[in-house]
Amino acid sequence: MTSSLTQLWPVLAGFGAVFGLAIGSFLNVVVHRVPAGLSVVSPPSACPKCDRPIRGADNVPVLSWFRLRGRCRDCALPISVRYPVVEAATGLLFLAVVLRFLPSAATGAAVIGHSLVLIALLYLMAVSVALTLIDLDTHTLPNRIVLPMYPVLAVLLLVSSALTGDWAAALRGLGGLALLGGVYLALAVAVPRGMGFGDVKLAGALGLVLAYLGWGPLAVGAFGAFLLGGTFGIVLLAIRRAGRSTGIPFGPWMLLGAWVGAFAGAPIWDAYLRLLGLV
Ligand SMILES: [Zn+2]
Repeated sequence: MTSSLTQLWPVLAGFGAVFGLAIGSFLNVVVHRVPAGLSVVSPPSACPKCDRPIRGADNVPVLSWFRLRGRCRDCALPISVRYPVVEAATGLLFLAVVLRFLPSAATGAAVIGHSLVLIALLYLMAVSVALTLIDLDTHTLPNRIVLPMYPVLAVLLLVSSALTGDWAAALRGLGGLALLGGVYLALAVAVPRGMGFGDVKLAGALGLVLAYLGWGPLAVGAFGAFLLGGTFGIVLLAIRRAGRSTGIPFGPWMLLGAWVGAFAGAPIWDAYLRLLGLV
């Protein structure tokens, strides 16, 4: 089983990328409809101008946009380039997650256990893309997307622990949830203008996943958000694109920081501790 999964990596990577393209297409619908309180499954996608439904053959991620030259087939209304960009980006991000987190050193039931972590991270990536765009568009992190993260991630990670026997990871996840959620709750209470409760709810879910992966990913993910967001804010102030009161959504930075933590948190944290002479 181990060697077969390892040997199959080009197939699984390709499948991940194609799956990501399709999910990216769905995320375009989510980003458009969830803030408006609409259903994401019905009605089927239609042109916002002429209301004619999008034909199946015109709904192929990325390719359809190019074949239609970025215009509706019926009324020639321009279709935003954001749609194919989101699809292509999601495909590439899914590919990266599969390549980084494909279980390679596991055997037996642990292969399935580690695969569940991979599925949890693909789900987190889909949510990350949707929340980033919605937060940039509307400065909100909708409960409809953030709250389901808790049961979905908890079930996937707990079943993974049951299969791998790694209950320490599950306990760490619980600690990360309480720790990161608690820090953001304190910030939201202390600085109500800086941090919203949407950020608090997202922080708990990110803390759960990051700490499940390890303390390094949690530490780098948590500090990375403030480092990246803070640097960006200072640059904006310096080039006078933003006043001190301009609201910059923090959700995208939390998510970007979390992914730096997930991908490279362990080695970054080790290097940092070594720098301090702590290990
Ligand atoms: Zn149209």
